[in-house]
Order: sequence, then structure tokens, then C-alpha cells
Amino acid sequence: MTRITIAKGDGIGPEIMEATLSILEAAGAQLAYDEIEIGEKVYLAGNTAGISPEAWDTIRRNKVFLKAPITTPQGGGYKSLNVSTRKFLGLYANIRPCFSLHPYVATKHPKMDLVIIRENEEDLYAGIEHQQTDEVVQCLKLISRPGCEKIIRYAFEYAKLYGRKKVTCFTKDNIMKQTDGLFRAVFNEIAAEYPEIANDHWIIDIGAAKLANAPQDFEVIVTLNLYGDIISDIAAEVAGSVGLAGSANIGEECAMFEAIHGSAPMIAGQGIANPSGLLLGAVQMLSHVGQTDIAEKIQNAWLKTIEDGVHTFDIYKEGVSTRRVNTQEFTAAVIANLGQLPKDFPAVSYRQEARITLPKYQRKPQKTKTLQGVDLFVHWSGTAVNDLASMLQSLPSEDFEMVLITNRGIKVYPDGFPETFCTDHWRCRFMAKDASNVSKKGIITLLDAAENTGIDVVKTENLYAFDGKAAYSLGQGQ
Ligand code: NAD
Repeated sequence: MTRITIAKGDGIGPEIMEATLSILEAAGAQLAYDEIEIGEKVYLAGNTAGISPEAWDTIRRNKVFLKAPITTPQGGGYKSLNVSTRKFLGLYANIRPCFSLHPYVATKHPKMDLVIIRENEEDLYAGIEHQQTDEVVQCLKLISRPGCEKIIRYAFEYAKLYGRKKVTCFTKDNIMKQTDGLFRAVFNEIAAEYPEIANDHWIIDIGAAKLANAPQDFEVIVTLNLYGDIISDIAAEVAGSVGLAGSANIGEECAMFEAIHGSAPMIAGQGIANPSGLLLGAVQMLSHVGQTDIAEKIQNAWLKTIEDGVHTFDIYKEGVSTRRVNTQEFTAAVIANLGQLPKDFPAVSYRQEARITLPKYQRKPQKTKTLQGVDLFVHWSGTAVNDLASMLQSLPSEDFEMVLITNRGIKVYPDGFPETFCTDHWRCRFMAKDASNVSKKGIITLLDAAENTGIDVVKTENLYAFDGKAAYSLGQGQ
């Protein structure tokens, strides 16, 4: 018996949770439940996190969480419960299988059967944002080696466990050479440890286009958080319907399972929602807790129900469907099919051990880090960049000299183009005159001089080399 936490959520949440739990029970799942309250009611009662401290305790104690969709109230100030759950509990991997159910559910891609493995904790979702000048705001994109290693190794282990033959990586490393570049470099390193699994890499833009046009060419896709967020909705939609997809959020200690769709308030209370997304999330949960026989039994009964043409309104199609059913009738049909296998779709068969446990991250030996320079970001509302350059060049500094100014990344000094549009946010690069003899004290002296001259420095970034290799981007056009 495994004790799990459940939350019935908002909108159609309670209806699809009731349907899912009755199928789990009829299939003989060995589960006990602790129910917690999350979502709209909790938000509106004044808790901006949408969840109480006691509910966190329950989730952390049971470690496995089946969550129905919730409604995030309109207006600012409410924090996304999904994002906080993933990050608080270290749920680093988001797994979304997307497969077509041709010819029973309409799709342009009859052969699609892929899994998206999305990094779930890092990237722009760190939510570290600042306004720096009147005209410019920034969001920090943080990518870590442990984060990359965990998600990429998870993707290869997943492929191995589920007999997938290829893992594809999506990044934009032609532009983001440090962040996406790290993700791709770690992908290449880890791919080499799995010679039996093919691997390839696509730049995210053309990769996403190919995914929408020829999803049958992909098996497992691993990617960074934001790209994964976008492409997993595209993939679910081209597979047939977002209403059909379930997802797992996996961490070292805890895991959360859910449907990918939201609380669908427009159809709430009518008893017509399709419970398949949450049910397939629950199937992933059963595999995770080792009840793979029950997971298999439910998924096969569900596939047979779809094949029988017993369809809720969202996938009902004249000529293909045989019965248009409500949530309860669909649930009863799945229960009646428990123990049966689909005839057209391949029956699923899960191995006994479906849980992926990764080795703990081993911190790498530290590299030799040397300071090579500093970027000063300056708030300046002038337009003649030569004026800014001569102000900066005349700052007294024994250690650094100003070599470059960019505006939104493009070089504007020296030899900028008059056509380049400039904002009030300037990145001014100072390089060490003698890199073997420079320290942060020199930066402080430089900042002090800037302050005394009335130059408004809004932030600095130190420029380092690791083991002698420069680890910062050049200015575009430099
Ligand atoms: P939605 O996913 O709730 O609905 C999109 C469309 O799909 C609607 O037409 C809806 O009727 C339909 N649909 C969704 N699930 C269905 C199902 N099971 N059966 C039949 N039809 C279904 O997206 P939305 O309307 O943008 O968001 C509604 C609310 O859900 C918002 O408050 C949003 O913040 C929240 N939301 C929550 C989650 C979550 O808790 N994981 C995820 C996404 C959105």
C-alpha cells in the first residue's frame, strides 16, 4: 500500500479526480490517500502561494502527489503553485508523453509517438528580474551543470528503460553560447556514455517547426525549461488534444503527477470533461511507485475504450466515434474494459522497475579562475556614444582600460554604425591591462571613480577565464 497526497483542484478538477480515483480503485491500485486543499479558494482566502504550510508537510511526507488542475485567480500577486511546487520539491524532470490515437482521434500525424523531457527548475523560470534603467528590464537565464547533467542523464535513462532508440536535444546554442552551449556540451558528453542510443541536436526554432510538421521523426526530446514548456503544448495539440495528455514531474525525493490541461472553468460542473489527461498522469504515477501491472492494465483498458469509439465531447467525431459520453459514462467504460487489451493500438507493457534513480551529482574539480576584465552596465540617456566613451576612458584606473561599448549586445563603440538604435542601457567593457596582476580591488577603484564622475553604473559582471578559456560572450560585431 502506498500513501499518496491528492488535490482535487478547481473547475473540472474534482470531476476528473473522482473519475480517475474510481478507475484506480477498480483496477486494484494499492493506494491510500491524504487529501489537501490547494488553488483558488486558498488564494482567495489571502494565501498568495495557493497552498498552506500544513499541505506542504503532507506532500513532503508522502512524497508522491496526484494533482488536479487549479485556477490561478486573475490579477497580480498570486504565485504560480505549479512553478513553486516544482522548485521547492526539486522536481527537475517534466515528462510528457505525446502520442496520436489515429484513426480514433483526429490528427494530422498518425504515427506520432514521442516523449518530451523538459528541464523543470532552471532557465528563465528562476524569475530573477530587474528594471535597470528607464528603458530596460532584464531577466536572468541561469543554467547549471548539475541541472543539465540531471535532466540529460534522465532522458537517456528513460530512453533505455522504455526501449526508445534516439534522444534529440533542442537548444539555441548558436546564439546563447554559454547557457545553451553548456546544455549542448553536457548532452554530447552524456550521449557518449549511451552508444546504443542514437542522438542528434536541433536548433530549437527549426526543431520546433519539424516537430509540428513531422513529429514521427522524434522519439525522446530533451530541452531547457522554456523551450520545453512551449514545444510540449505544441506536441500535445498536434497529437490530437491537450485534453488527453498527462505529465510527471520527477525529483530525487518527491514526484507530482497531473494532466497538462487547466481547470477548464467553462465546462466545469457539467460532468462532461475528459478525464484522460489526469488518468494518464496517474498511470505514470503507478509506474513510479512500482505498481506497473496496474498501470499497464489501466492504460490498455483506456486504449480499448478509445478504440471502441466511446468518446467524450472534445474528441467525439461523427463517423469515427460510436458513443458520445459524459465523464461518468467514460469512466464506467474504462472500468468495464479493465483486463482487456486494445485490438488496433499496440498494448502497453511496462517493466517491473519503472523508477529512474540517478547517481548523485558529483561536483567537478574546481577550475583555475582568472579575472580578465569587467563589464560595467551604465544608465546614460545621451546619444553620442563617443561622449560616453571619452568619459569612461578618462576614469583613472591602473588596472583596466575601456575597450568596447555595446547597446543591447551590439557593438556601438569603437566603429559603431550610426543606424544602430540605442537605448539608455550601455554595456561598457573594461579589460585588464595585465591579466596576471589584477584583482577585484581594481574593480572597486574603477567603480569609485565612476561614482565620483557621476556615471550611473547599474550593475557589473566580472569577466573570467576558466582554465585559461575566456568564459563570456563577445559583443555582437566585436
Ligand atoms: P484549459 O486547459 O483549462 O482549457 C483550454 C481548453 O481546453 C478549453 O476549451 C477547455 O474547455 C478545454 N479542455 C481542457 N481540459 C479539458 C478536458 N479535460 N476535457 C475537455 N475539454 C478540456 O486552459 P485555460 O482555459 O487557459 O485555463 C483555465 C484555468 O486553468 C486558468 O486559471 C489557468 O491558470 C489554469 N491552468 C492550470 C493548470 C494546472 O493547474 N496545471 C494548467 C494550465 C492552466
